[in-house]
Amino acid sequence: MVAVSSQSGVKFDFDAVIVGAGFAGMSMLHRLRELGMRAQLYEAGSDVGGTWYWNRYPGARCDVVSMEYSYAFSDELQQEWEWEEKYATQPEILKYAQHCADRFDLRRDIKFDTRVDSASFDETMGCWEVETDKGERVNAQHLILALGTLSATNYPDIEGRDMFEGPTYHTGAWPHGGIDFKNRRVGIIGTGSSAIQAIPLIASEAQHLTVFQRTPNYVVPAHNEPLDPVQIRAIKDRYAEFRNEVRQYHFGIFNEATNKSALEVSDEERRACYEEAWRVGGLMFLGKFNDILVNPEANRTAAEFIREKIRAAVDDPQTAQLLSPDFAVGCKRLCVDTGYYETFNRSNVSLVDVSSSPIERIMKNGVVVNGATYAVDDLVFATGYDAITGPLTRMDIRGTQGQTIRKKWSNGPQAYLGLMVAGFPNMYLPTGPGSPSVLSNMHVSIEQHVGFIRDLLVHMRDSGTDVVEATPEAEAAWLNHVDDIANQTVYKSCNSWYRGANISGKPLRFTVYFGVPPYAAECDEVRANGYTGLAMNTIQTNWTEDVS
Ligand code: FAD
Ligand code: NAP
Repeated sequence: MVAVSSQSGVKFDFDAVIVGAGFAGMSMLHRLRELGMRAQLYEAGSDVGGTWYWNRYPGARCDVVSMEYSYAFSDELQQEWEWEEKYATQPEILKYAQHCADRFDLRRDIKFDTRVDSASFDETMGCWEVETDKGERVNAQHLILALGTLSATNYPDIEGRDMFEGPTYHTGAWPHGGIDFKNRRVGIIGTGSSAIQAIPLIASEAQHLTVFQRTPNYVVPAHNEPLDPVQIRAIKDRYAEFRNEVRQYHFGIFNEATNKSALEVSDEERRACYEEAWRVGGLMFLGKFNDILVNPEANRTAAEFIREKIRAAVDDPQTAQLLSPDFAVGCKRLCVDTGYYETFNRSNVSLVDVSSSPIERIMKNGVVVNGATYAVDDLVFATGYDAITGPLTRMDIRGTQGQTIRKKWSNGPQAYLGLMVAGFPNMYLPTGPGSPSVLSNMHVSIEQHVGFIRDLLVHMRDSGTDVVEATPEAEAAWLNHVDDIANQTVYKSCNSWYRGANISGKPLRFTVYFGVPPYAAECDEVRANGYTGLAMNTIQTNWTEDVS
């Protein structure tokens, strides 16, 4: 093993260990190499892609348009890659990730099928000791935890879950090669974005599909289509400019908004705007007016419009009623579909309401609700994730004085800029809690964070600094700031995974920064002012022994 040196002459196995080979980890590795730094990346899966490696369920695809949901850091890459559809499928995005890995020769520094179990900070040496499930131990000056926000699968704690005798699947850990549901009675638990994509396709194949729904979701149409070569050319001719424009939109997604309040226009104009947004399709339905996510009254107009669409799409009024949400639209992640509501008009699909009467238990060949048994051969868990913090708290991460991240976040996560945690020096969390992450086009947020980390490491190198850490004061102020912004929105008005409400015992805390451009501006200001809120130090030691 080659030893590398910190500023003070201390030698480490690597300058940086990166964990996770999704889009964040891959671009981090590439950017560190550009700096001449030596990095080792560990990935639990067998290949790159992260989300798009694991989520192989039927219908999986992104709901940010392909031309925007992709790396912007290399013009050659964005010019050469040809997306096929408006919204790319999971196989296409995985192929793109694999192409990036090959193109930038990333695999030589990635160890696949290797989970990092623990990482602890050595205060004397100023480095992280990292241990994998393969028994490998290495140290590195910097630890970049690109673990993803939606990578820790959640299985609900339902009695008898292990008793089920048929095959079970989680959407976020789908078997390679696909599943044949022909002639099978399938049960699916959950009606979030994953289920909404999978249900129409499973229903079209299975003998019968039973959908167990606890909370209905708002769903807008995708209107997916092949990409028009003329449109592709128009963007590619000015891709860099287009990317810059996209970064100025609230969610980092191009949006033809009216920039008007939903309440300042006539009923006719409002309806015409919603109809237009529905015709175009996609997440930016929520951006049609500038106050849908911040004014409950404006929000109700959008919510009622979608409920009308549900009533129009679903034949049976009772089923339509069950499928109609009653919380603020956008409070839980808006879903984007192809034929979801219409699927409930099929004779081989039943909807079982488990809101007031939860699933009692799972038996060897069925699911029991309110005393009735629903026979199923296969059971799909579309039950989501221990989001944002789960991938971090599932690892044993110890900062200064042996403090664990689990203990530190026992009342909810906190991180300065959503990126660095007081008491955990030289540790960086791309798209971490308190950054726009899941309320944004994640590619935009990933590249912004990766760029910030890169610049910070250059600054440390140039200024002869070994250790950087968020100050507790800056961290606390940031938490309040994120909370103040959230209080002006509808996001705290329902129980969502954004707040940790889907995981029993998890503290309820909404730690997502609302707004890509203001967030980026705050990071730019921190950087321009010499990294305010971060304390930097040099390790005092004469230790120079080679650790190889
Ligand atoms: P991930 O892609 O989650 O990668 C993290 C990697 O870390 C994983 O491969 C995991 O195996 C690995 N890992 C975690 N813990 C360890 C450990 N201890 N040791 C070793 N390896 C570890 N975002 C959008 O902006 N638009 C979309 O349309 C969109 N669609 C989505 C659809 C689905 C089904 C899901 C689940 C998410 C979607 N997202 C979307 C969010 C998506 O997660 C991000 O867009 C992006 O892919 C995240 O990249 P990442 O590198 O941060 O994390
Ligand atoms: P999710 O949104 O958390 O949905 C999980 C579903 O399981 C919810 O309907 C939840 O009900 C239900 N559930 C959980 N435990 C249950 C129980 N014990 N009994 C009954 N129902 C239970 O998870 P997801 O669908 O995997 O999506 C997660 C996120 O990934 C999305 O919000 C989105 O950010 C991303 N994603 C994006 C796309 C895309 O289109 N690009 C596709 C998939 C995923 P409650 O609501 O009542 O908790």
